Amino acid sequence: MTDVIEKFLRYIAVDTQSSEESETFPSTEKQKNLARMLYDELCEMGAADVYFNERDCFVYAKIPAADGGESARRLGFIAHMDTSPEASGSGVKARFVENYDGGDILLNAEKNITLSPAQFPELAAYRGKTLIVTDGTTLLGADDKAGVAEIMAAAQRLLTSGLPHGEICIAFTPDEEIGGGIDKFDIEHFGADAAYTIDGGGLGELEFENFNAASAHITITGLNVHTGEAKGKMINAAQLAAEYEMLLPAAEKPEHTEGYEGFFHLLSISGDTSRAELKYLIRDHDRAKFESRKELMRRTADLLNAKYGKGRVQIEISDTYYNMREKIEPQNMFLIENAAECMKELGVQPKIQPIRGGTDGANLSFRGLPCPNLFTGGHNYHGVYEYVCAESMELAAELIVKLACKG
Ligand SMILES: [Zn+2]
Repeated sequence: MTDVIEKFLRYIAVDTQSSEESETFPSTEKQKNLARMLYDELCEMGAADVYFNERDCFVYAKIPAADGGESARRLGFIAHMDTSPEASGSGVKARFVENYDGGDILLNAEKNITLSPAQFPELAAYRGKTLIVTDGTTLLGADDKAGVAEIMAAAQRLLTSGLPHGEICIAFTPDEEIGGGIDKFDIEHFGADAAYTIDGGGLGELEFENFNAASAHITITGLNVHTGEAKGKMINAAQLAAEYEMLLPAAEKPEHTEGYEGFFHLLSISGDTSRAELKYLIRDHDRAKFESRKELMRRTADLLNAKYGKGRVQIEISDTYYNMREKIEPQNMFLIENAAECMKELGVQPKIQPIRGGTDGANLSFRGLPCPNLFTGGHNYHGVYEYVCAESMELAAELIVKLACKG
């Protein structure tokens, strides 16, 4: 068993599920159990400036520059410690499928749960490889403990290898899955000039584009009159809500879009004759198109106001996050070029693709720490079909070492 896999198995044994319902930060105390474990291991392996922020549950450490790398760029690597609230992360029973034959994998005979290439065609690429799967009752936790294990193994290798490299900054973060954890990330303390999150999926994934995101909240005020005397007077707010939705482009919805196509997503609709409410998510990779989507939503409200009277439809739009490409492309493309080059040296084909969501790296990029995302080797995150390829994990750890040496 390699050091990466040995670490991974120990980390997934610790339940670190975060919680949407919690009012505290971090959202669950149990994330600190893994944080303490990582703190101890970093100290033991001889990392510098190892720091566990007990209150916020962040772990920071440095691998000092070696062999003349002191003036090199300070590169960082980040992974999150929590697992998704969407599936249990308690009592994970990982199982190895060695020399995978490309067929169905029975995860749980009793409950008849099967991981099948018919449902998950990506499995076909792993014929002959070693997969780590669940027993079908919990998630695996490769998201993102594969990333944690890969960084930890790389750190240890850098400390013992004698390879020349610049200072390497490491951080493990809480509450990524519920959002907001990264807001408390201390960029100054972290100390890197640029970084990578190790939180992607299958082998070769390299991501530096995510959505621009906003949410819209629409409130509609109707005019309720007795139905018997309503003619020419009643304005039905619920009906206006339906009309508003019908005015948006029908094909530009999540269920009809992929790749670089943006959308309007009707998150919720509620109301009655007097009052109605609509909630939307607005997403687009392209900043100009993103702005015109917001503009279209405002103009649609104006149109209904012109038709039914001023102030009936009120719209509030707030931006949630932006596409980090804006921050990577002008001055930081070396991060993408270096990652692609190092992958090729390892015989891995880089797969550059846009993320149809956000990442912690996007948040950090806009706060001044350019931070694209690299693969961990895992698939089917947030559910019981989650699995990871052992060989991909080894390559991810080697990729971190290579990037560290490249600077
Ligand atoms: Zn993740």
